Amino acid sequence: MTEGLIERYRARLPVADDACIITLGEGDTPLIRLENIPEANDRNIELFVKYEGLNPTGSFKDRGMTMAITRAVNEGSQAVLCASTGNTSASAAAYAARAGIACYVLIPDGKIAMGKLAQAMIHGAVVIQVQGNFDDGMRLVKQIAAEAPITLVNSVNPYRLQGQKTAAFEIVDELGAPPDFHCLPVGNAGNISAYWTGYSEYAGFPTRACNHCDGQCPWLAEPVADKLPRMLGYQASGAAPFLRGKMVEQPETVASAIRIGRPQSWELAWAASRESEGWFDEFSDEEILKTQAMLADNEGIFCEPASAVSVAGALNDIESGKIPGGSTVVCTLTGHGLKDPDIAMRQSTAPVQKVPAELDAVKRVILG
Ligand SMILES: *Cc1c(COP(=O)(O)O)cnc(C)c1O
Repeated sequence: MTEGLIERYRARLPVADDACIITLGEGDTPLIRLENIPEANDRNIELFVKYEGLNPTGSFKDRGMTMAITRAVNEGSQAVLCASTGNTSASAAAYAARAGIACYVLIPDGKIAMGKLAQAMIHGAVVIQVQGNFDDGMRLVKQIAAEAPITLVNSVNPYRLQGQKTAAFEIVDELGAPPDFHCLPVGNAGNISAYWTGYSEYAGFPTRACNHCDGQCPWLAEPVADKLPRMLGYQASGAAPFLRGKMVEQPETVASAIRIGRPQSWELAWAASRESEGWFDEFSDEEILKTQAMLADNEGIFCEPASAVSVAGALNDIESGKIPGGSTVVCTLTGHGLKDPDIAMRQSTAPVQKVPAELDAVKRVILG
């Protein structure tokens, strides 16, 4: 039986001893070594992906949601609310269903991947499509949560980041040490902040994402790592506030999960980048889709477009030498490719061939 990440890392999470845990067995996702990437092999670089698409609802959001919903339920909340580009709503809907509480989700008009919408709907969330983008939805849910007894489960809810930091723990536990570089897609910027918190806490340092005990968390007394990775954050060019140095009013990208112009964890992510001596970079939609297809084709790994920007960034920095030869690099693949089948179909080059149900016809295709 999968116990879920709260049980596994309970000693390092702000969860009461008698709390009733809401879990779907999230976490413990595969860390896969990429084998067929010449850029890495030629430079003796160990390149791994943390395949977060294998969480219960198909994205890393489940790590934060098990914590946020557990806290909400144990505080007596009867309803949760979020704005979402898709995956947060899918996860909130599933964990709320599990807990038996209501879930309201605000999604942007039109630009939501089909799989994600299907998930929110089948789990019985009230889905509200706002005529605006994610940032509009975010503004609205914050206003509602300030007025009504509904728990906000976006990553401004500090327990989300607490749950998400466990991915860094898993990586260190598995590799035996932190990697030299950690690469992530950056949208609302909660996840890069959460990983930095996880790596920092494992090395015995508090970060400013720690909201509950003034940097005096008991678990900081027991460090298990003696170094920290450099945090590399990658964005889509049409939605790259960290590259522009300011908020972006009309974010645009095919990678809908990172189509965000006003990241809520702006300060935390800058701190992660600065403190770790990392950097941000940006990639075009074309480069993102090319990397998504390459991972599927070369490695058998299907991630959604937003996830692929982490690998696009890693390969670019490996080629330029910014990531030196001999390094260990981990890229987070944030969500499963099945979330967005339309995009995968659109960029598949091999056409489906239709033939009569006869041996000769099939032979002709296979044997020529
Ligand atoms: C939410 C999400 C992101 C962005 O993560 P942030 O914490 O908002 O920066 C990236 N990829 C996928 C698939 C996501 O669901």
